[in-house]
Amino acid sequence: MADVSLTHIYKVYPNGTKAVNDFNMHIRDKEFIVFVGPSGCGKSTTLRMIAGLEDISAGELKIGDAIVNDMEPKDRDIAMVFQNYALYPHMTVYENIAFGLRLRKIPKNEIHEKVVEAANILGITEYLNKKPKEMSGGQRQRVALGRAIVREPKVMLLDEPLSNLDAKLRTQMRAEIGKLHAKLQTTFIYVTHDQVEAMTMGTRIVVMKDGFVQQIDTPKNLYRYPSNKFVAGFIGTPQMNFFEGTLLKQGDEVLIQFEYTDAQITVPYSALYKARPSYLDGKSPVYIGIRPEDVSLAPEDVKNSKAVVKVVVSHKEDLGNETLVYGDINPNGDGYVESSTRIIIKDNSGRDLKAGDVVDAVLDFEHVHLFDKKTEDTVLPRIPEYNYLDCEIKKGKLKFLGTEIELPEAIKTDDLKGELLLPTDAVTLNGNLKAEVVSCEDVNGISLMLGGKRLYTVTTEPVETKTVGIGIDFKKITVKADGEEKISPLPELNCFDCKFVKIKTHDTVEVKGKTKTKKVV
Ligand code: ADP
Repeated sequence: MADVSLTHIYKVYPNGTKAVNDFNMHIRDKEFIVFVGPSGCGKSTTLRMIAGLEDISAGELKIGDAIVNDMEPKDRDIAMVFQNYALYPHMTVYENIAFGLRLRKIPKNEIHEKVVEAANILGITEYLNKKPKEMSGGQRQRVALGRAIVREPKVMLLDEPLSNLDAKLRTQMRAEIGKLHAKLQTTFIYVTHDQVEAMTMGTRIVVMKDGFVQQIDTPKNLYRYPSNKFVAGFIGTPQMNFFEGTLLKQGDEVLIQFEYTDAQITVPYSALYKARPSYLDGKSPVYIGIRPEDVSLAPEDVKNSKAVVKVVVSHKEDLGNETLVYGDINPNGDGYVESSTRIIIKDNSGRDLKAGDVVDAVLDFEHVHLFDKKTEDTVLPRIPEYNYLDCEIKKGKLKFLGTEIELPEAIKTDDLKGELLLPTDAVTLNGNLKAEVVSCEDVNGISLMLGGKRLYTVTTEPVETKTVGIGIDFKKITVKADGEEKISPLPELNCFDCKFVKIKTHDTVEVKGKTKTKKVV
């Protein structure tokens, strides 16, 4: 039982491969952590560094309170289970499980107790006298787990332990490893390339790509709030649909124009409230991500929505309980090929569709994902940076969301009607404005409060009361009217013009044919 913490961990192999770059994570005692990502992303290397099987190029690794960078694997109090079970073929199951304990000169009766207990937990008691070759893959993997369990490690490391098993056995062993974790109450770190395995087993998941951590989060949060396009596409099957397009805020609505097709739709601004305002200018290119389960072909949804696109059906896959419909939002597109207009729909409407049919599909923008076209990072942060509100200033009073508040004397402006950009961290939880707490989300330890009419603030304390008094930090607000900034936030730093000047400290001189440097006085 132990915490494991990785601080600025790097791995550069002797051939120059940068396998792991700046890995930072604190794994709490008893967590079930899964490292997931495509082949070659650095997950095994990270696990092997924790095990001590691979040197750490830079950074600090702690298990419990000890820095273990230079500690031998056998002294780290960890146990590791590999994909190939690495059992001794000439030994019985009993001997295989007992082997490590014998090496450590544990008394025989104690070894016996531990082996029997582990066999019991894993349901392999009746195989204790058999040799590995007489057992199936699943049973052998249980023996490998047994060998790890009897060591009573502080941390269990598992490297793709199920990938040699067939699909049915994998599902069964997945559940058993989950049960084992609950029983042993030990920290588990599990490596897999299979996102379904990761989603079903991990309490938290680390998604990696090309040696870099992309996101560390709970399965639910990875699915709901992917921090970039890679994570969004990696988690969930079939993969999220990605279109390209632009967004233009027009009052209470946002016009969405798709690329490579004439399709355009409008959605209520409330669905895109968290979007960074600069992306709502009708020019900034974004990826629009919608999961196949968030597209509906049901006639009653089509009737009630303005977010309807025409889809030309190319083919479908009938899965029994649901049908995957493949199509394209470009009338000349081809739903067989992945593109910026191809769409996959999880359809439960039971409609009998054929190739060439044109159907109306509703895109559920309450569950949309938006990513910057260039960086591919999300532009829908979980906590919006700004509350973006209509406002009016009259005789030194600021009116917004049906309330009125006196502007500080230092802020002077003419009467106007415009937009107020109120940063979430400028809404304080001590003030005279009464607001109703609608919901409080846990965002990686920060609570998010949603006021009566969608007003966000951040706080490190959970908000328990229904009504709170809020205030505004006027130093941080921006008010825009007629395309001009009428009130600007105060700069947080004093800025001065300056430039860097190169100072000569040494002269190079030649003395008797040799180059020497001489300090400049
Ligand atoms: P994963 O477990 O995610 O499939 P690995 O951690 O095994 O990935 O590998 C990460 C990267 O490091 C890959 O590019 C791989 O080719 C490289 N690599 C792994 N082991 C070595 C090694 N011993 N020497 C050089 N490069 C290696």
